[in-house]
Amino acid sequence: MSGRTAFYRELDGEVRAFFAARGLTATADWRAHWKAAFVTLSAALVYSLFLVLPASYGTALALGLLAGVALAATAFNIPHDGNHGAYSTQRWLNRCTGSVLDLMGMSSYLWRWKHNAFHHRKPNDPSIDLDVDLMPLARLSPQQPRHWFHRYQHIYLWPCYSLVIIKWQFVDDFVRLFRGQIGHHQVPRPRNSELAIFILGKAFFICWMFLVPSLIHSFGIAVTFYLASHLSGGFLSAIAFQLGHCVGEAHEDPEAAAGHSWAEHQLRCTVDFAPSNRLVAWYFGGLNFQAVHHLFPWICHVHYPSVSPIVESVSRRWGVGYQVNRSFLATLGSHYRWLHRLGSPAG
Ligand SMILES: [Zn+2]
Repeated sequence: MSGRTAFYRELDGEVRAFFAARGLTATADWRAHWKAAFVTLSAALVYSLFLVLPASYGTALALGLLAGVALAATAFNIPHDGNHGAYSTQRWLNRCTGSVLDLMGMSSYLWRWKHNAFHHRKPNDPSIDLDVDLMPLARLSPQQPRHWFHRYQHIYLWPCYSLVIIKWQFVDDFVRLFRGQIGHHQVPRPRNSELAIFILGKAFFICWMFLVPSLIHSFGIAVTFYLASHLSGGFLSAIAFQLGHCVGEAHEDPEAAAGHSWAEHQLRCTVDFAPSNRLVAWYFGGLNFQAVHHLFPWICHVHYPSVSPIVESVSRRWGVGYQVNRSFLATLGSHYRWLHRLGSPAG
C-alpha cells in the first residue's frame, strides 16, 4: 500500500509549500508552548488545591472531575504531538513531551507501538488497528463476529469508555510488557532507557496519585480523587479517539479498500468533526482534524486548521473522499448510530 501516489505527492507538495511560503516549521510554535503551559499548570493547580484544601469525599470528587478534564487536555495537547515527533525538530524534546504520558501512569513506549505503528498504519482495519478491537465487549467493525449482547452496545459502551485509562494503567501496560505483545501484534519489549522510563513513570504516578494524598488525607480520599479524575478523563479520551474513526462514514468495503492507496485509505476511514468549533479544536488538541493528522502526523496540531482546507480542496479535486461532520453533536450521533447498526442483527 504505497502512500506516494500522484494524489498524495500533489497534496504533500501543497502542504510543504504552505509552510515554506510563510517561513514556518511544522512543529510546535508559541501557541503550542503557551497551551502546553496552560494545561499543565491547570492540572497542577487542581491537584494542589486537592492537597491543601480540607479533605472530604465531596471535594475529592469535585476536584477529581476537574482534574480529569485538565489531565485529558494535557494528554491531547502535549504527548500526542511528542510521540509523533511533531512537537519539535529536536528528538530529545519529542521524547520529553511524549513521556508526559509516563508521568500520567501510561507507557509512552507501548502507546507509540499501538497508536503510531498499528492505528496510523491502517485505521479501522481490525487485522491491524487495535483501536477497533474491543471484542468481545463491543463490535466496532463489520468484519468482526456479532454476539447477541452487541444489540445493546450503543447503550452500555458509553459508561465502559470511562474505564479505558484505568485499565490501560493497571492492566494493559503490564500484560503487554510481560507478553511482548499488543493484541495479536508482537512488539519488542522495552529495554534499557525505555524500560527505565516505564518503571520510573509507573512509580512516579503511584507516588503523586496515591501515596502523597494518602499521607495528607486518607487512602479513601486519594482513591476517590483518582477514580473521579480517571473515569472522567478516560471518557473524554475515548470519545476524542472514537469520533474520528468509529462512525458509519469512516468504513469502506474491505474489497474496495484493497485497491486504495495508503493516503486514500486514511481519508476514507477518517472523519473530521466540528472543524469550525475553536473550543473543540483547542481542547482536543486538533484531534477533530483527523484527516490532516493521519496524512501528516509530523505536523503539530496547532497548524491543522490552516492545513485542513488544503487537504479538503486537493481531495475534492482528485475525487478522494474527504469526510467531515460539521458539528460535535452530529458526530456523537453518528457514533451512536454506528454502534447501534453494528450491534443489530442486520448490521
Ligand atoms: Zn495520532
